Amino acid sequence: MSGPAHRLAEIRERVQRAADSVGRDPATITLIAVSKTHSAEQIREFYDLGVRDFGENKLQEAEPKISALPTDICWHYIGHLQSNKVRRVLSVFQVVHVFENLRQRDAISSDFSPVRDVFIEVNVGKEAQKGGIAPENLASFHESLIECKRISFRGLMTIGPVQCDPEGMRPYYRELAQRNAELRGDWLSMGMSSDFDVAIQEGSTHIRVGTALFGARG
Ligand SMILES: *Cc1c(COP(=O)(O)O)cnc(C)c1O
Repeated sequence: MSGPAHRLAEIRERVQRAADSVGRDPATITLIAVSKTHSAEQIREFYDLGVRDFGENKLQEAEPKISALPTDICWHYIGHLQSNKVRRVLSVFQVVHVFENLRQRDAISSDFSPVRDVFIEVNVGKEAQKGGIAPENLASFHESLIECKRISFRGLMTIGPVQCDPEGMRPYYRELAQRNAELRGDWLSMGMSSDFDVAIQEGSTHIRVGTALFGARG
């Protein structure tokens, strides 16, 4: 088996094992291949292996790749989102994971179409340098966000504090899942290369995997 096929098979096996361990159906978990810094050709390899969800974190870097690749890809925006880029991001990405302030909502005009799926990013670790809304402000922000009819709230997303041990993420992921249930989110975006197994056990529906699929970023 070649490199990408082998790595993808390994990831799918990890997803299956994590899902089995808590009695979940792996079909309810979307693997987002985080392709930031990697070329359209590298993305194409995973596309040819059946991957249809890709994640990017920079608009300028993503746009040429998006136009070079097949239109049945679902593109996920996972980077920092400046309010002056919101309209452009929503026009080229199908799913946006990083809503966290009202300037972003206000940048969406009432005639924008089509309606996009969005996650609210939560700073569960309350880290000063990280993006995401503080947990204590989540309820009121959620209420304001869902007033915007051009976006559809689907659930919460977090990156979380970097841990040496994936088990260290469990309390953060558990807290996010609980808050997601309170807001009736049907999707939940959490888990990266090193810890998506734990995230799946805690209820993640969207894992964002870069390094474990593409190798280290240059
Ligand atoms: C880069 C990135 C990932 C992927 O991280 P890996 O550790 O390479 O799997 C996931 N989520 C976000 C928000 C990222 O920026």
